[in-house]
Amino acid sequence: ANTKVMNQIAAMGIAEHADWHVAVRDVESAMASWTPDSWTRAEARQMPQYPDKGALDAATRQLSSYPPLVFAGEARELTAELGKVARGEAFLLQGGDCAESFAEFHPNNIRDTFRVILQMAVVLTFASKLPTVKLGRMAGQFAKPRSADTEVIDGVELPSYRGDNVNDIAFTPEARIPDPQRMVQGYSQSAATLNLLRAFANGGYANLHQVHKWTLDFMGKSPWSAKFADVADRIGEALDFMEACGINPDTVPQLKGTDFYTSHEALLLPYEQALTRQDSLTGDWYDTSAHFLWIGDRTRFEGSAHVEFLRGIGNPIGMKCGPSLEPDALLRLLDTLNPGRVPGRMTLITRYGHDKIEAGLPKLVRAVKREGHPVVWSCDPMHGNVVKAANGYKTRPFDRILAEVRGFFAVHRAEGTFAGGIHAEMTGQNVTECTGGAIAITEQGLADRYHTHCDPRLNAGQSLELAFLLAEMLND
Ligand code: PEP
Ligand code: MN
Repeated sequence: ANTKVMNQIAAMGIAEHADWHVAVRDVESAMASWTPDSWTRAEARQMPQYPDKGALDAATRQLSSYPPLVFAGEARELTAELGKVARGEAFLLQGGDCAESFAEFHPNNIRDTFRVILQMAVVLTFASKLPTVKLGRMAGQFAKPRSADTEVIDGVELPSYRGDNVNDIAFTPEARIPDPQRMVQGYSQSAATLNLLRAFANGGYANLHQVHKWTLDFMGKSPWSAKFADVADRIGEALDFMEACGINPDTVPQLKGTDFYTSHEALLLPYEQALTRQDSLTGDWYDTSAHFLWIGDRTRFEGSAHVEFLRGIGNPIGMKCGPSLEPDALLRLLDTLNPGRVPGRMTLITRYGHDKIEAGLPKLVRAVKREGHPVVWSCDPMHGNVVKAANGYKTRPFDRILAEVRGFFAVHRAEGTFAGGIHAEMTGQNVTECTGGAIAITEQGLADRYHTHCDPRLNAGQSLELAFLLAEMLND
């Protein structure tokens, strides 16, 4: 029996002499029934209906022959890093676009989002003295779950936009037809994005000596950019001091570059399946489309095809937890998704809304703690706080985002668990999509630079502001 089977049996509390061989047989047969396509026999919600099955087969066959985007060993490394978060020894920062798009594919956009994540990580690490695990919602975050299959504009009803790897956002009947070749374009864009991120992370850009240069010009007016300059000064002094002591920071890998991982919602299962490969070292299956994959709040129900798919891959995985998730269901899902109870395997991303978190989260935290499941608790303060502005824009008030983060920390403090991470929809661009913040964006101002393909994102200044407030809470 392999280690996964052994771990699961140990977790079930079965002594080696009793029903050991029966347990090995049962667990092995349950696991054996998983294949990269076993999800096709379960209920798959939020999936496009491709009109041409032959074209779908051709596209997935093409993708199956393409190189993996990430390696199994990297995914295992991330599991180990997240294991530290589960133990309270590190903090998780996950962020990026709600939806990447073909139209906004540009090196400057990738650089600017990467740069804000670095700035946030520096602020968090400097204040909390904990390492920050950096995980981009990037290089593959295309597919979107929608609340309705169709949308109506001016009396015209068309299929909903489901992300650039499925259909086109233009409001015409042709544009909204799912086209499987879009998956191939999504793969290419992900590969190029990941290549640039790897270069930024290890090619000199992320060297801590550059910390002053990460400041974005348009953030100059924000009081938080002055505070960042202050942190940067102090880091610069620390590096100078180390150098004076004879340590050349450029010879220290952790200062010279950084680890940066990628993630997206594993929603479009034909795409994920095509990139799922067997690791030659361990024989385990990994989804090589990203280091980390998560299940959305709309597809995490019991019996879901998405749960079936994700339970069989070796990557670290996330699950969104909204107000409708009951503790018993959560525990059954954890047993399915992490039977071996591997720390770092599961990240629970809670997204309640500023007014529901303090009442709703404690029952989940208590159940998970009672059962002893090792998880990373991460806060998504975005998806429970969407409001429609008077002028029709979908927005998120910054003060509600902060209120949910505060509620998240308060619950974990009260329950004696570790508030381990943040999950944010954000961009390095100076967009006007969420109201509020130090350079306050008003409802009227939303129209100025509202560019998102889906949900409203924090801009660079709001993201940095969030990092400073998180740093304060981590220090409390
Ligand atoms: C998302 O993260 O973009 C999303 C759709 O979130 P959720 O599954 O929490 O609704
Ligand atoms: Mn979103």
